[in-house]
Amino acid sequence: MDANPRDVPPPPLDGSLEFDQERREAAAADFGHVVHRVPEAVLLPGSDDDVAATIRWAAQRGRGFAPQGQRHAVFGRSQVQDGIVADMSARNSIGSIRDDRVEVDAGVKWSEVLAATLPERRTPPVLTEYLELSVGGTIVVGGVGGTTSRYGLQSDTVLEMDVVTGEGTIVTCSPEQNADLFDAMRAGFGQAGVITRATLALVPAPESVRRILLFYPDLATMLTDARLLSADAERFDVVQGAVMPPPGGGLAYRLDVAKYFTGDAPADEDLLAGLSDDPAKRQPDTLSYFDYLNRLSMLEKLLRKNGQWFHPHPWLTTFIGDSEAEAVVGAELDRLDPPVDLGQFGQVVLSPIRTGAIDTPLLRLPADELCHAFNLVRVPTTDDADNAQRLVAANKAMYERVKAAGGVLYPVSAFPLSKDEWREHFGPVYDQLAAAKRKYDPDEVLTPGYGIF
Ligand SMILES: Cc1cc2nc3c(=O)[nH]c(=O)nc-3n(C[C@H](O)[C@H](O)[C@H](O)COP(=O)(O)OP(=O)(O)OC[C@H]3O[C@@H](n4cnc5c(N)ncnc54)[C@H](O)[C@@H]3O)c2cc1C
Repeated sequence: MDANPRDVPPPPLDGSLEFDQERREAAAADFGHVVHRVPEAVLLPGSDDDVAATIRWAAQRGRGFAPQGQRHAVFGRSQVQDGIVADMSARNSIGSIRDDRVEVDAGVKWSEVLAATLPERRTPPVLTEYLELSVGGTIVVGGVGGTTSRYGLQSDTVLEMDVVTGEGTIVTCSPEQNADLFDAMRAGFGQAGVITRATLALVPAPESVRRILLFYPDLATMLTDARLLSADAERFDVVQGAVMPPPGGGLAYRLDVAKYFTGDAPADEDLLAGLSDDPAKRQPDTLSYFDYLNRLSMLEKLLRKNGQWFHPHPWLTTFIGDSEAEAVVGAELDRLDPPVDLGQFGQVVLSPIRTGAIDTPLLRLPADELCHAFNLVRVPTTDDADNAQRLVAANKAMYERVKAAGGVLYPVSAFPLSKDEWREHFGPVYDQLAAAKRKYDPDEVLTPGYGIF
């Protein structure tokens, strides 16, 4: 008689499989604090072979498998009910820094990559707003950063990857080798494999950053300057926008612009010529490159202290084409009750992105050459689950309106999509992702948390 596949013993490992309640509970939580799925066990991989053997073991027993980086997803995307999750932070070595590249384990955080590259005066060209995310976790979603208009997404700056497929096979991929897998892994939400190692591009790092906060009376004026600065690619390295609820009520409209430099500081008159912000409100500052990149750490400290870091974070992240931005964003701002829907420390991100440098095939974008990251960064003042569910429903409703105006989801968002909605989201590239899924994860073992297949 055949053995019950559920009785198949775990494979021998260099690392370990942990079945204790505490670790499983921790793996059932993420930054979103909305979805909670408890795995059967947590893999602490000691090698790529461990990942491969454990995927095969999960598949034999009809269980799902998902890698976890820093668990900053907001809707349970790296969770698997009764399946196996791999804590990829156990894989965190960084190779020697070369002029134009570095090879890292996928569990390494971007802050750790920087700590290794900056002494050599090198930097990854694109860094996310928050540096404590894992390399693997951002490559599989794309990874938008302040310099995306110039260099594309983080997934556009990866040169090569080692991937364990859903069949438990270790494959090296790049634009030249197994290119279908390479393209399926970049912004492919881990549907075809688990990244264990990535070779990342590096560029010369600047020493300093001139950062200036600019304030506007209204959305239209802020967008006018966002367009002007986007058309003048040399003026600033980073142009980001936000609409925030200030303490006195109402809304503050802000551009946060940054010029990188080494040696002499650039002249503010040149940087700010022809802008329509309120000159009396300008806040200029000069920072080291690292302090600039690490600017979210102050807010993190504050939110950890007041407890809001641990509240639900039902974020919504989208891209809206420039031609529709003012109408759509204006209408959504009218609908928002900022103190309740965003929280005192939340904001509406509205950052211009020239899309020409982005060539990750699975990343969906509006048709306009200039689009805007349009995100609701919600930091609720309460951990009430009903309030979180209300905001999840509000995300879905807003997404429908953004989509109707030609906007596109950036799927690091908190609301569920049906398989048909995923198919619609991927549109012309759905077949490419589905073909990779059939080829590399035919038993659909990997990363079920999105519900794409
Ligand atoms: C405070 C904050 C700031 C953020 N800022 C930005 C930003 O500026 N730009 C931006 O683009 N995004 C941003 N995000 C979103 C973030 O990039 C994604 O949520 C990212 O997936 C989180 O990475 P992680 O390491 O925490 O991954 P996890 O949350 O652990 O996992 C996320 C997804 O990646 C998969 N995954 C993780 N590791 C691997 C691997 N090695 N191989 C294959 N799949 C893997 C998981 O299975 C899951 O599907 C931010 C999120 C937060 C909470």
